[in-house]
Formats: sequence, structure tokens, C-alpha cells
Amino acid sequence: MNFQNTRAFAQSLDAQDELKKYQTEFEFPQVNGKKTIYFTGNSLGLLPKSAKKYIDDVMNDWANLAVEGHFYAEKPWWDYHERFSAPLSKIVGAKPSEVSVMNTLTVNLHMMMVSFYNPTSTRFKIICEEKAFPSDQYMLQTQVKFHGLDPKDVIVEVKRREGEHNLRNEDIIAKINEVGSELALVLIGGINYYTGQVLDMEAITKAGHAVGAFVGWDLAHAAGNIELKLHDWNADFACWCSYKYMNAGPGSVSGYFVHEKHHNNKELHRFGGWYGHNKERRFLMEPEFTPNEGALGWQSSCTGVLAMAPYLASVEMFNEIGMDALIKKRNLITSYLEFIIEETAKETGTNLEVITPKNQSERGSQLSVILHGEGKELFHYLMKEGVIVDWREPAVIRLAPVPLYTSFEEMYEFGQILKKGIQTT
Ligand SMILES: *Cc1c(COP(=O)(O)O)cnc(C)c1O
Repeated sequence: MNFQNTRAFAQSLDAQDELKKYQTEFEFPQVNGKKTIYFTGNSLGLLPKSAKKYIDDVMNDWANLAVEGHFYAEKPWWDYHERFSAPLSKIVGAKPSEVSVMNTLTVNLHMMMVSFYNPTSTRFKIICEEKAFPSDQYMLQTQVKFHGLDPKDVIVEVKRREGEHNLRNEDIIAKINEVGSELALVLIGGINYYTGQVLDMEAITKAGHAVGAFVGWDLAHAAGNIELKLHDWNADFACWCSYKYMNAGPGSVSGYFVHEKHHNNKELHRFGGWYGHNKERRFLMEPEFTPNEGALGWQSSCTGVLAMAPYLASVEMFNEIGMDALIKKRNLITSYLEFIIEETAKETGTNLEVITPKNQSERGSQLSVILHGEGKELFHYLMKEGVIVDWREPAVIRLAPVPLYTSFEEMYEFGQILKKGIQTT
């Protein structure tokens, strides 16, 4: 498509947008009495209006039924988490029995490490990405120390090549082959949070298995953003948070996936608890732990129903739309944003370098842009003008036009504000 940097052209794209009606189903923050242009749905998604009703229902059941709500609420609390299996499985490409929700992301990664990282004297290494999200680094380091090992001997980071912003899949695979029989686990972000690069999860998973390692994925930036086929890719496990693209609210519960091939493996360690215990027998208060079938057998505690409620509202909206329609709009709006950035760079004579891969299969919604020669005043200017972006030193902004609630006209408007900002700050 030949894009144009005009309001009329952007409006014509909005007129053809099949997801347009969803924009009014979200609450937007306001700046100067005007709806903001919200680019940080990759960090904290907007509030779906329907979430309020889901929370109110739980509050009302609590008020009216108290303890009886566990069994007699309209959506009973004791198995509320099971409502996620079917809709979430479609979003991450899994079987319903392979997914559930509990805890938060870093905690779930720790829980998965219990099952999938059991180092021996010969097989103990972990491959991860250089500069992974800090929580993942801390998680890995402390897990390794918990096993009495030194992170320096265990954690192998795959690095970017000199002068390149993105990782190469071939370099990750080469590193997997090099570590070979010493490799216990590969654990990487399916999308890099900083650059927005999508890795070739299928090929990396295959390479990890070929040398006898487990392969798990942190999908914080991937769930609800890109097409995932966790079952077919044969990933061993994956975890994601729900408050980024999935709009479930600050600190809401994390989703997790355990491949069905592991469901009956009694060798795998688990940190059990009563909610992981055989559901039919949960309230018999038996002394010995017998896990539920499927991913539900990795549960431990009862999960906060108030935290799950907005997530349920959100996954139901995702299912109504379907990932295909979301991805179709995502590709178009992200490409249009990229075009607007290129045009603004030309018009202002600035080097605005998009470091996210150009290839649509290697990116999701997010574009990360280096604003060469610009300083933090530009960020403050954008925020003051109601453009909510995320700033990382040195002069990188991350922009995520979220297909559910971002319009093409907002991309045009952003270009105009950015241009003014570059000229005046
Ligand atoms: C957002 C994010 C987290 C956050 O972890 P929480 O446990 O939910 O606080 C962790 N890892 C990655 C890669 C992230 O993007």
C-alpha cells in the first residue's frame, strides 16, 4: 500500500478498520482534557470498560455470599482459573489442558525452573539472551545459586554482533550446538522487550531439543501481540504476564503453558499446593499430593479472583476478535507508524533510526526508535502534548500502537507532534 502522511489518508484507513468499534471499549488517560495517544500498551495495557463489571460481580458475590461464593457465585471462585484454559489456549496456540493462570510472571518462571532446571554434574548450563529483562536475569542467577552453582559457570548469554541491534537466530542456534551436551535449558524472551524483535521460536526450540535440553519462553511481550503456536513448536513451557498487551491491569495474574508431553511425567519436580492437587479430591484434605491432570497440576495456591476478573474480561474480548484480525490490523498500523516516522525524519532532517526488524514476521506491535541528536526534552515535550511513550537512555523511544485501541489518525497526529517537538526542543 502507498501510504500518505495526511490526516485524510489516515482517516480513510480508520474507515476500513474492522476493529474500530473496540476503541470506545477502553478508558484512555487524558492530558489537557484530551484523550492521549497511548503508545505504552506494551508496558501497561488500557483498562477495558468491561473489566469493571467483572470485578463488581466478584465484589457483589463476596458481599452477598461470602464463603459460599467459592461454590455458589455465578462464576464460582474455586475453579475460576479454569475459565481461562479455553480462551487463552487460542491466544498462545496450545491445547486448553496446557495453559492456566496463577501468580505473576517472575514467580511462574521460578515455578517452571523447579520442573525444568535440574542440573547434573555434566548437564547444567543455561542459554539466555544478552541484556534480558532484568527480572529474568535475577531469576536465573538466583535459581542457579539455589542449586549451589555459580552463575558465571552456568549462564551463557548469546550476544549481538558488533554494531547490530538485534540478535541473530543463527547465532542462538550456533551457541546451542556449541554448548551441546552441557546444555540443560534455553530460556529466552520470545520478543525482546527493548528492540521488539521476535525470535524464531520454532527453530530455537528444535535446536535446543536436538542437544537434549529443555526450552522455555518468556512471552511477556508476545502474548496477545503475535501469533504463537506453543504446542506445535513443542516448547516445554512458557510464561507471560497479563498486564501488557493483554490489558488485565497492574500486577494481574500470569499465564503459563506446560506442554502435554510433560503432564504425566512424575520425574519432574513441582512445588505443590492444594490448588495443584487433584480437583475432585481437593477438599478431602488428604495428606499426600496427587497433581491435577494437565497444566493445572502445576498450581499451588488459590489465585486472587479479583486479579483474575479483569483478565477474564480481556481474554473474552480477544476471543471475540481472534488473533488473525488483531495481527492483520497490527501489521498495517505498525507499518503506517513506521512510514510516519520515516516521513518525519525526512521533513526535519533528523536521523530517526528504527532498530526493530523491518520484516513483519520478526516484529509485533512495537517499534523502538533511536532519536539521534535529540535529548530527553523531546520526551518531556511528547508527554506534555499527550503522547504517552516510554523513554530509555540514550534517546530510545518505544512505541506500541495496539490494534485493539489505537487509530491510524493518531499515528498521523503523532507525526505532527513529533515534528514540532524536534523543531522546538
Ligand atoms: C514485563 C516483564 C517482566 C515482569 O515480570 P513480573 O514478574 O510480572 O513483574 C518480566 N520479564 C519480562 C521479559 C518482561 O517484559
